[in-house]
Amino acid sequence: MTKLIYLEDTYLFESEAEVKEIKNTEKGLAIILDQTIFYPQGGGQPTDHGKITTENVVFNVADVRLDEDGVVYHFGNFQNGTIKPGEKVTLKVDKERRINNAKLHSAGHLIAEAVKKLEIPGIKPVKGFHFPEGPYVEYEGTLENPQEYIPEIEKTVNELVEEDIKVEKEELSTEEAEKKGVWAPTGKSARIVYFQGYEQRGCGGTHVKASGEIGKIEIRKISSKKGMTKISYIVE
Ligand SMILES: [Zn+2]
Repeated sequence: MTKLIYLEDTYLFESEAEVKEIKNTEKGLAIILDQTIFYPQGGGQPTDHGKITTENVVFNVADVRLDEDGVVYHFGNFQNGTIKPGEKVTLKVDKERRINNAKLHSAGHLIAEAVKKLEIPGIKPVKGFHFPEGPYVEYEGTLENPQEYIPEIEKTVNELVEEDIKVEKEELSTEEAEKKGVWAPTGKSARIVYFQGYEQRGCGGTHVKASGEIGKIEIRKISSKKGMTKISYIVE
């Protein structure tokens, strides 16, 4: 298992690690470390990019994935040199990309809180897609005249941004999560993330420290068809 340091600190962009293994996989060359600050793509959030380096070696990280056993694969290529198991390396995460992803992810959660606050009937949150290319929050259920909801959702969510509400995170045992009615993947840590005073949601993503950091959120459109409703947004 790889220790996931990004869960503790979204803003740690550089750290040390030890190389466990270099693997040639179907998806290309991968470095496995004892611990990582690289976010592995999943949960609606894109992969981090960055570099794994030693004094003489640079490995460009293009994609990061977490397998079922909790091992993180850093896929990419050596710009020069090579690394052996046991070596100490420096990890550098692309800061701008990470912050942007954290803002988009937190914005998705905040929209869910705004929708809940407005008590819009007939829709139930399912998932979020927080990629820069067309992020949205998805609901089960449909709305009549969905576009009519845009102004009030946008107003409410930006009020929540203005309030600069603190983001809290906690690790729960699977039993604790179950008791709270929070979904947790079996065998994995049940991590909850929430805006102080708002709903606790199971989430393994990286988040900003408080809602004010997100900046203005624009609700771009709401589509409602085939039993599903999608609220699309952008962060300025
Ligand atoms: Zn999330």
